Parts: sequence; structure tokens; C-alpha cells
Amino acid sequence: MIELPEACVMAGQLNKTVCGREIVSLTMNYTPHKFAFYAGDPADYGGFLKSKSFETAVSYGGMVELRAGDYRLVFSDGVNLRFYGETSRRPVKHQMLIEFYDGTALSGSVQMYGGLWGFVDGDFENEYRKAALEKPSPISSAFDNAYFSCLIGAVKVQKLSLKAFLATEQRIPGLGNGVLQDILWRCKLHPRRKVLTLSTEEKDALYSGIRQTLDMMISAGGRDTEKDLFGQNGGYPVRMSTLHASEGCPACGSSITKEAYMGGSIYYCPECQKLGGDL
Ligand SMILES: [Zn+2]
Repeated sequence: MIELPEACVMAGQLNKTVCGREIVSLTMNYTPHKFAFYAGDPADYGGFLKSKSFETAVSYGGMVELRAGDYRLVFSDGVNLRFYGETSRRPVKHQMLIEFYDGTALSGSVQMYGGLWGFVDGDFENEYRKAALEKPSPISSAFDNAYFSCLIGAVKVQKLSLKAFLATEQRIPGLGNGVLQDILWRCKLHPRRKVLTLSTEEKDALYSGIRQTLDMMISAGGRDTEKDLFGQNGGYPVRMSTLHASEGCPACGSSITKEAYMGGSIYYCPECQKLGGDL
């Protein structure tokens, strides 16, 4: 599932491709999906968008948003967006297909669950979108050391593990289980470590690790575990993932450990990321 780096890359790609192209048709919910969510009746989206063009694409958290005047088309992190050239075959199944005047197209399909919300700005509320828009993005200047110190210094997070601290409660928009593994590996911190056991130096390292890792992922066009607008894998090799875990730790050569933890897998190097005696 895409997270902040891929949403950021996707918005850049949408700006260079679909933005500025006239929309001739929009088909929503062609393949009904139990966990595809819409804003109101998706059959109404076309009435707002036909003959218009998207002016810009933006991202916040793990979400991508296309804008046409005051109309918004927002995709949550579970939606795969793909661009098709004039002669490319369109997907057989999809929850959204937009055809443009020049013969190109954009599709959206839901993996497990996802939102494809079309609405006039101000007419739709969603708590995830609200959090992603209002909280400082971890790649913005507002996410500075002072802000991070407040986040990690809050009383209610002290007993949380680092995985829970980083990837739950929308605490840091767009930072999920996918990107946190390499962040923690780079900082030499175990995903099960409790926040209250971190030294000041370790907290500083975590702050820098978040910023640096996200920056590297975006610069490389996203993670290699995810696909971009053109169906290409990103260029950032996710060391702590199913793709590269078998290669061992790039820092020390140890075998990577994979465990089930908090409704997902965690990967870590047992040598570089010591748990200590706090669990
Ligand atoms: Zn290691």
C-alpha cells in the first residue's frame, strides 16, 4: 500500500500527465467493490468533471488529490492509480476510469479497501483526510525538532512501542508500517522498543531518521515494493521488507528477523537493533 513517499511521487507524475487534459468520460464503480468508498453517489462525479480538466495534483499523508476548479477527487492510500497511453489496453476491472480527449486515460482500482472521494470543496468530511491536511507533514519545515519533541514527549505515548508510536492514530500523516521499518533500521532502534526507554540521542536519531529516510524514498521515486502511476516499481530498495530481507543486514551482514507484531509484520536486524531489557 502506498504511503507518503509514493503519494508525493504520484502527485508529481499526475501533474505532468493528466493535468491539463480535457475529460471526455468518467466511469465510476464499474466493478463494484465491497470496500471501495465514495462521497455520495459516484454516478454524479461525471456531471462535475466532464469537459473539464484537472489543473493540479497534490498529496498529503498517503493521499493524492486532483483539483478541477472547486471540485476535488481524492484517493486514499489503498487505491492504485494508473495512466494509459492512447494505444494501451484499459484494465478489465476498475472502480474508476477517466478517458481524456487526447486518447489517454487514468484508472483507479482498490486493492483491499480505499476511498475515491469526489466532492465540491467544503462538502465532504473525512477524519483521515482532515488529519492529513491539518497535521504537519513529516517532510515539511513545520515538522521540526521542537514539534517532534512534543510528539514523542507526550505522556500518553510513553508506554507505546516505536511501531505503535510511529504508525498509529494518524500521529504522523502518511507514515505507516511500510516506511517505518527502514526508518527504525537506519536509526538502530527495535520496533518493539518502548518510547520511554529512548535516550535523548536516540530520539534525535529517530527524528533525523524519519526525515532522511522519507527524503531518500521520494528522491528515488518511491519504494521498490510499490508501483507508480506508470506501473513501475520505485527505486528505493526497502531493506526491511519481503523483497530484501533475505539479503541480510546491509550494515552488519546478520540475518534479518521477521515477526508478526500488531497486525502486521516487522523486520529488523537483531544485531543492529537491540531490544534491551525493557520488554
Ligand atoms: Zn545489522
